[in-house]
Amino acid sequence: QPAAGSTLRDEVRSLVVGLGVPSGRLDGGGHAARSPITGETLAELALASADETNAAVGRAAAAFREWRLVPAPQRGELVRLLGQELREHKTQLGRLVSVEAGKIVSEGLGEVQEMIDICDFAVGLSRQLYGLTIATERPEHRMMETWHPLGVVAIVSAFNFPVAVWSWNAALALVCGNACVWKPSEKTPLTALATQGLFERALARYRENGGRAPDGLSELVIGGREAGEALVDDRRVALVSATGSTRMGREVGPRVAARFGRSLLELGGNNAAIVAPTADLDLTLRGVAFAAMGTAGQRCTTLRRLFVHESVYDRLVPRLVGAYGSVAIGNPLTEGTLVGPLIDEAAFEAMDRALEAAKAAGGRVLAGGERVAVEGCENGVYVRPALVEMPEPSGLVREETFAPILYVLRYSDLDEAIALQNDVPQGLSSSIFTNDLREAETFLSVRGSDCGIANVNIGPSGAEIGGAFGGEKETGGGRESGSDAWRAYMRRATNTVNYGRTLPLAQGVTFDV
Ligand code: NAD
Repeated sequence: QPAAGSTLRDEVRSLVVGLGVPSGRLDGGGHAARSPITGETLAELALASADETNAAVGRAAAAFREWRLVPAPQRGELVRLLGQELREHKTQLGRLVSVEAGKIVSEGLGEVQEMIDICDFAVGLSRQLYGLTIATERPEHRMMETWHPLGVVAIVSAFNFPVAVWSWNAALALVCGNACVWKPSEKTPLTALATQGLFERALARYRENGGRAPDGLSELVIGGREAGEALVDDRRVALVSATGSTRMGREVGPRVAARFGRSLLELGGNNAAIVAPTADLDLTLRGVAFAAMGTAGQRCTTLRRLFVHESVYDRLVPRLVGAYGSVAIGNPLTEGTLVGPLIDEAAFEAMDRALEAAKAAGGRVLAGGERVAVEGCENGVYVRPALVEMPEPSGLVREETFAPILYVLRYSDLDEAIALQNDVPQGLSSSIFTNDLREAETFLSVRGSDCGIANVNIGPSGAEIGGAFGGEKETGGGRESGSDAWRAYMRRATNTVNYGRTLPLAQGVTFDV
């Protein structure tokens, strides 16, 4: 707990230092780390240049050459210890996430829990990096697949999941035998420094226990776009895993491809839900409210478009208006708050522009959209989430505005609603609320949702680490986290072994010399 009279700045600095970050790193640089809660500056950090970023890649490349030789289950032991550090420091890191990203307390803690979960997943995975054995047409031969690590994995992350996204990538990349270089969002450098501090502790424990791990295994580069671009263009970086806006992905993807590197893109979403005639409206109301207003609309999976069947529209929408009117907005560190601040002024300006455009296109703001004054947080950007009834899904309804705006539209026919849902450039997450088996299965089928995530009777927002996470179309096509997403961090070799004394060629070819 902060001492009486201490500011957020004091509290955060002592938290960060307590997690192993040298206090000298927090001052003297030109980049202000701020809290969206109060707008205050928490630290002044130096940003890495392109040269410094290249040097970090060099260290990671050297580390990779050693780390790849460490057996995968031993690599898993390092990740297990990382998970242990995260468990022991969940409260502190969760608090930092809340302060730096503006998340309510349970969401700050939830983000750290997600890191713990992926560590556990990766530890199990470290004994399951298997390939296939495949029937071969040649006698006395064996054909199989072997999976090898890629090399250096660059992780470029967004502000809204300042640490979880790193762990989804790093936990898997490390057990797969890669070295990592992380460039977090310039809006959330302190949580990154703290996470790096916890990684260093895990590394020290691992070495104390006799584990072999090189320096440079997991580098952190606090930098802006220049540092990000240096990673993107560095030929020693085998995989660029980049999470952020579609604008960013449009720049990063082709640049990495131009040097034949690999990329894993996790970009913007424009997620929808369909509320069908048989939907349980109590459950729907809660599902929609969390998905649309939670995290102040700043999740890639936030619900942004709601298609409500005309038969239930007049029963559901007035209840939604009530929820929007009463939701608790305020300091996210205060108990009871459900909606914290937007990340910055620019986010509010984008929201405001979108609302103006919606009105110009015939939209009707049913609730919210206005600034909210929060005592003690005068320089934070607080806003009441907006619920906007649209006559048709035109113009900006097709875009992701990274703020809490939910566009509501009526539909009469399910095929039409599915077509409208899919008719956007993004393809991340989607859901249907229905108790009709045929509708639910249709939505999940090939003629249903075209998204990477499709749910029934839960909203589109949020995900468990056990499943593969990611989306189609302009969301970038990448998959992270669970299922077989690990394969993106490895390369596949097909091996054929001849254990006989003749040399039969494939496809019956003869070549006798
Ligand atoms: P952003 O695109 O502004 O920045 C993301 C990261 O990319 C930052 O670290 C930034 O420094 C870096 N970057 C920007 N331009 C770059 C370039 N040309 N080369 C290399 N690096 C560059 O995104 P943001 O505002 O931090 O985050 C919000 C966006 O992220 C939303 O669009 C949201 O949907 C998306 N997001 C997607 C996922 C997902 O998994 N699909 C998860 C979280 C956030």
